[in-house]
Amino acid sequence: MNEHDQARLERLLGPTGPEVGCDECFNRLDEFVELELAGLEADATVPGLRAHLDGCPACREEHDALLALVAEDRHDAR
Ligand SMILES: [Zn+2]
Repeated sequence: MNEHDQARLERLLGPTGPEVGCDECFNRLDEFVELELAGLEADATVPGLRAHLDGCPACREEHDALLALVAEDRHDAR
């Protein structure tokens, strides 16, 4: 595998940081979104997740959808 292919593969797979992969991202997304909406330290509580979202379109989409959903719930609830 040459360098070009390596870089391409890394883009396809998303960032492979030590902290958060897609599985953990998915597991903690609820918590992260709750904290975000509450105006709390989401990034500090779930380290690496923001970075993962930035580099992973699939999780990013999941996050945006969940954020919209929870925000709507909040809006309806009194
Ligand atoms: Zn992901």
